[in-house]
Amino acid sequence: TLAQTAPDYDALIKQAHQKYKNNNDGKVADYIPALATYSPQNFAITIATVDGKIYQTGDVKKAFPMESLSKVFTMALAMEQHGPKEVLDKLGANATGLPFNSGLAVELTKGAPENPLVNAGAMSTVSLVEAKDKTDRWNKILNNLNAWADASLTVNEPVFKSEMDTNQHNQALAQLMESYNSFYGDTREAVEIYTRQCSVDVTTEQLAKMGAVLANNGKSPYTGKQLLNEKYVPQVLAEMAIAGLYDGSGKWLYTVGLPAKSGVGGGMVAVVPGKYAIAVYSPPLDSAGNSVRAQQTIEYVAQATQSNLFLAK
Ligand code: GLN
Repeated sequence: TLAQTAPDYDALIKQAHQKYKNNNDGKVADYIPALATYSPQNFAITIATVDGKIYQTGDVKKAFPMESLSKVFTMALAMEQHGPKEVLDKLGANATGLPFNSGLAVELTKGAPENPLVNAGAMSTVSLVEAKDKTDRWNKILNNLNAWADASLTVNEPVFKSEMDTNQHNQALAQLMESYNSFYGDTREAVEIYTRQCSVDVTTEQLAKMGAVLANNGKSPYTGKQLLNEKYVPQVLAEMAIAGLYDGSGKWLYTVGLPAKSGVGGGMVAVVPGKYAIAVYSPPLDSAGNSVRAQQTIEYVAQATQSNLFLAK
């Protein structure tokens, strides 16, 4: 059967690139002014397998800001430090059913962010990271991203500045959470560090390698380092399944059946446990803030490789 034959990843990603490159649906994010400068044509695909192979096509040299993709890896750091029970108790594991930066969602629950992948929960996650001071908090977060990506990642300073100049809404969310005792550190510091982590640039290769750590039980197939306790990996993937695509998460799970995460920079990663991760970059977003071509590409590859988690294997 198809499932037993090693898939031709190289052919599949080239087919998907060809099939979707002329789909011009969606809109490049512009609520962060610096993001509006990215070309809607940019399109890159990388698959990273658990046995350490890389397959890629398109604009794979083009880096893009992680934005919300960073939330997954800082959540993993918080889980590694505090364990999954504290993550569940303090950050939650439910859908909000509302946009990723909803203040209403925080208000409705009297401060519970519902999950670590919406903005409120992600900023609370940053405040939960165990650190001596601001510098140490940032270093721990960046070092963690570097270890997952097997790279020395850097902050995109123009994006960071642009986002800092326009992040009043996130500051308000953090203060609203603080008013309900759902914040665990200084709000200004946490919002700034959150904004900094969102501004870290990656390529699809780096992002796919980060996803491959999750596909490989928390151990990097590239460096051999165990970056997340193997026991916690299902919890991280569950959070992605619940909220990785925000209010688009349910429809995504229904059609594709894989845990995934998007960012408003146009990046997206999906994880097939035990097999591979796929990262796609294409800036135009749908109304929930998820890359249109990335969703199409991942759906195509997932179907061709029979990767839906809910299929009996
Ligand atoms: N940095 C962005 C924000 O806080 C991230 C949002 C996203 O990628 N969905 O709005």
